[in-house]
Amino acid sequence: MTPNNISSAASFLDQQPDFKPSDILFRNFARYLLESTGISQLPGSLDLIRKRHNLNRHDRTLPQSRGFLLGDTIFINSEDPDSVKRFTEAHEIMETLVIAIRPEIPAHSRLKFERDKEKWCEGGAAELLMPDELFFPLVKKQGINLDSSRQIAGVCQTSLTATIRRMLDSNLSPCIFALLQEGYKKHQIVPTRNGQGVLWGNSSDWDPPAELRVLRYWKSPQVKTILIKNESFSHDNLAYQVFQSGIIGKVKTGQEILELEKIQGTYLTEAMLVTIENTASVMSLIHL
Ligand SMILES: [Zn+2]
Repeated sequence: MTPNNISSAASFLDQQPDFKPSDILFRNFARYLLESTGISQLPGSLDLIRKRHNLNRHDRTLPQSRGFLLGDTIFINSEDPDSVKRFTEAHEIMETLVIAIRPEIPAHSRLKFERDKEKWCEGGAAELLMPDELFFPLVKKQGINLDSSRQIAGVCQTSLTATIRRMLDSNLSPCIFALLQEGYKKHQIVPTRNGQGVLWGNSSDWDPPAELRVLRYWKSPQVKTILIKNESFSHDNLAYQVFQSGIIGKVKTGQEILELEKIQGTYLTEAMLVTIENTASVMSLIHL
């Protein structure tokens, strides 16, 4: 039996002669779903897309996963916040295209396809929830900053991280967006972490101070420089100040000196403390 959802993805593929699986193909699939469902304003209703394309959604506790697609049913982890569930649902809708494409992939390319398809589904999900022609005018009007990202996330019903990443895609201005968490470098000697014996006292007394480090980052397409994963921000930086304040959700903005591995000089930066999966994290936006 061919589930109905596959036939939606298959009819999209029929319109793509000589398609190559790519980020663009998945983004085009998102646009096809929006157009065929008649969605022309934000927030786009995933319920409507599912109904139009004969997909079902079930929410249940999924301890190891945000969600998955089984036949024509999308399972979503009921424990996740609503904005995360929405992105997961959009991602799993994109997985219907993966199922339609998979048999077409030659055996020697399948491993690479499996690796790449998650990234493509993420891009397609972002396009589905924040499509270019509806989303970019909002970014142009409000500019790229942490306050505007909160407003736009409210409009799109998406998480702050997903929203800011998509705002960077607009390429309106050169920015780097980073998530920072306190921690150590992988090979750093940290007695409590390594379960190492110490000469006297508690092993925690021997731990070096943890630093606020780059967990992940994203940049506007026009930005050529990079952050280095795990590099640390200085204790003088705004990122550290908001981290130490312990005040969640308050944006601090200012010109400051950055002395990172690839970025040195004075820049306008913004920082805000948030919690991500119960861990205190700093969102840092660097305007280059
Ligand atoms: Zn996936």
